[in-house]
This record gives sequence, structure tokens and C-alpha cells, in this order.
Amino acid sequence: MPYRTIIEPFRIHTVEPIDFPDEDRRRAALERVGYNVFGLHADEVIIDLLTDSGTGAMSTRQWAGIMQGDESYAGSRSFYRFRDTVAEITGLTEVIPTHQGRAAERILFAVTTNAGDVVPNNTHFDTTRANVEYQGAEARDLVIPAGLDPAAEHPFKGNMDVDALEATIEEVGRDRVPLVMVTVTNNSGGGQPVSMANLRAVREVCDRHGIPLFLDACRFAENAWFIKLREPGYADKTPIEIAREMFSLVDGCTMSAKKDGMSNIGGFLAMNDPTLAQECRNLLILTEGFPTYGGLAGYDLEAVAQGLWEALEEEYLRYRIRSTEYLAEKVAAAGVPIVKPPGGHAVYLDAKALLPHIPPSQYPAQALACALYLEGGVRGVEIGSVMFGKPQPDGTEIPAPMELVRLAVPRRTYTQSHIDYVGEVMIAVAEKAGDLRGLRMVSQPPWLRHFTATFEPL
Ligand SMILES: *Cc1c(COP(=O)(O)O)cnc(C)c1O
Repeated sequence: MPYRTIIEPFRIHTVEPIDFPDEDRRRAALERVGYNVFGLHADEVIIDLLTDSGTGAMSTRQWAGIMQGDESYAGSRSFYRFRDTVAEITGLTEVIPTHQGRAAERILFAVTTNAGDVVPNNTHFDTTRANVEYQGAEARDLVIPAGLDPAAEHPFKGNMDVDALEATIEEVGRDRVPLVMVTVTNNSGGGQPVSMANLRAVREVCDRHGIPLFLDACRFAENAWFIKLREPGYADKTPIEIAREMFSLVDGCTMSAKKDGMSNIGGFLAMNDPTLAQECRNLLILTEGFPTYGGLAGYDLEAVAQGLWEALEEEYLRYRIRSTEYLAEKVAAAGVPIVKPPGGHAVYLDAKALLPHIPPSQYPAQALACALYLEGGVRGVEIGSVMFGKPQPDGTEIPAPMELVRLAVPRRTYTQSHIDYVGEVMIAVAEKAGDLRGLRMVSQPPWLRHFTATFEPL
């Protein structure tokens, strides 16, 4: 039905009221939280696009599954349903539940990575980078050059630069590369997909050097849909067939079930190597829980098991990817600079292009995120020099390659009119761009500073 509106493939079953703080309240809230929208109370936000992580609406079937959760400490029925689902979708044999994606990352890197190692990725997500660096290793981003150019139109801007990967392995030596990781879709790089051909090429390099390849699989279903839409030879394949092919090219994966697990919490670490899995489970017991629950309730495991299948439904994916594209088209038509083409789960505003008068040292994307909140109570997140700038001993910083504000769309949560409103707010802020001022960072913690750093306007 190409000429009909692509509608939400669900009806609303339970509603949650939204608060409407006025502009004075929003201004006061911004001051109170030191111009960091992570500090806002959710009730102070009108449309919350901070993240698509764990913020989606669950289905009637997921809630029904929750009622069937088996809370046995060991060997719960819900664990086996979860394990079998993950194994059926990924083909990976060792399935380790974790409370969310970063727990899977922490365990994987603690077991595989040593100080001085280098971990290549297309673009590390913030928690992935922090977990690599916490081991004293280097997290190296090797996305293709088009992936760093917001205006470049490329069907798979999340692809890894295979020559750069080869060069990195040559430079540091195979022994210092414990694993290669590919993030699908490339969240920090604009939610851009990775092609099957690229995954296959990365696999070949890894095989040649005997290096394991892991997928950061958080949005594996969205990535599969992009492959279906854009990669020759995949148009007639189903999302599950494409997902299985993606997973067949890797030795393991980390997963946040708060994304394409369609759940409010959960994650897993999966792999084929039983020895490595045993080491991971030993650490899991120390910090997360017994291997048949991994820090989750039995009912969470049920919600994830059901959610993983729902993420692969064609009607859902068609709506999901189209609704993000719809917001992108609306603001791009008004001349607002965004990362093109739009990613699967989010629209990324290009703050460098919109606010050329604010240098990276004054955090243009942070200023833009604050302006969106002030204008219309819309909360997005900075993905720029606050998140990825590198402080130097002399007090200066190496800026991030891009200054973006991500507006992530929670799954099955907002309707088209909510999204129309968001578009209006974005356009209104863009019209006032010349009046926006930069920020000065007042305080920051040692890790993941974007969550809690505070600022003042310049
Ligand atoms: C969300 C996310 C993670 C971390 O998952 P959490 O469940 O938030 O800990 C890792 N990688 C990517 C690409 C993500 O989007």
C-alpha cells in the first residue's frame, strides 16, 4: 500500500498523562539543573526524546508474559524461554542475561581486554567506550569517512572503514586487539546502519588475523530493516532471515534489551566460545546474579523474550523507520540541518551547522539541547564535545568530531501529532539560532561526564 499513510500498527491500550510546564517553569528548571537536561524531573518534560532506551511501550503479549514470570532463583522457566529465543534469533549458543547492555559490556571487556589493548569499533557507544577505557585500553572509532560528514548521503554510513581496521591491527599488533566490535545501528554516529557486505568484509579481516568479532546488537532489527530496504539482494528476505545472517558473521554480541528487546530493562551477552562464556559467567555471579537470571526478574526475561520477536515484525519495522524519517523530512524541509539520511531510532540535529557562531569549546550541541527544552519542553541529548570531548592536561579539550543533538524516538509511545509538535519546536529554535549562546562547563565527574556535568550560559 505505497500511497497510503503508514499507520501505527497498534491501538493504545493504556494511557499516561503528560504534564505541561510553562516557559517560566522550564527556564527555572534549566537553571536548577545547571543546563544539563539529564537533571530534569521527567514531569518537567513535555515530549521526552532523551533516549529510546527502555522508554518504549510494551505490548499486551509482553504484559501477559510478565504475569507468567517464573521467579525461581535457579533454572527458571522464564530463563529457558529467554535463552531459547536469543539462541533462535542469533544462532549464538551461550546466552548470558544481564540487567542491561553495559553490564554485558563490562563483563566482556573485563574478561577479554587488558591495559594497553586497542578495541576497534565503527563508533563506540558512550558506555562501551567507558567500559573499554576502564580496562586501561583504547577504544578506537573506525567508521567510514562519510559517517563523520552529517551532510553526506550514503546508504550505510555506519560501515566500518575496513582499510583503517587492517591498518590498526598492523600498527598495534594482533595480540593487542582482543576483539573487534561493530555497532548496529551506529548509535553515536547518527543511528546509521551497517551493510551485510561491510560486516562480511570486517569478518574476513578478523578471520585473517584470528580476532573475534562481536556485534553491539542493540538495534539489530532496525539494522536488518535498513539492509532489506537498501542493500541489493535483500528486498525479498524477512527481517529475521537478515538478522540471522548478520549474527552468523560474528562470534558473539552484547545487547541492551531496552532497545530492540522492546523492554523497559534487560540485556544479554551471547557468544559461541564455551570457555569464554564460563569466565563471563563467573564474573556475572560476582556482580549481577546467578546465570539463569543475571540481575533480572523472571518476568523481565519473559518481556524480553516476547519483545525480541515483536522487534522483528515487518509492520512494526516499517512504521518504526518511517516515523523517524517523517520527523526528519519535516524539519529538513524547513532548512534545519540534520544528519542525513535519518537514522533508525532518532533524528540528529547538526549543531555545528546550525550554530556556527558557537565554537566546540562552548558546547554548541548542549546549548541547542537546552534551547529545545526551553522552547517547547522537548528533551533530547547532546552527542558532541560534552559526551566525547577529550580534556587535556593544560585544561583545553580536543573536541568531538561532530556536535549533534539526538532526538530519540521511544518505541510505540508517541503518535504522529506528538511528532508534529516536536518538528514545530525544532523549527522554532532553528529560526532563533543566531540568538543562542554557548555554555561554560562548571563541574564534571571523571567518567561519563555528560550525565552529571553542570554548565552556565556565556
Ligand atoms: C544503549 C546502548 C548500549 C548500552 O546499553 P544499556 O542498556 O543502556 O546499558 C550499548 N551500545 C549501544 C549502541 C546502545 O545504544
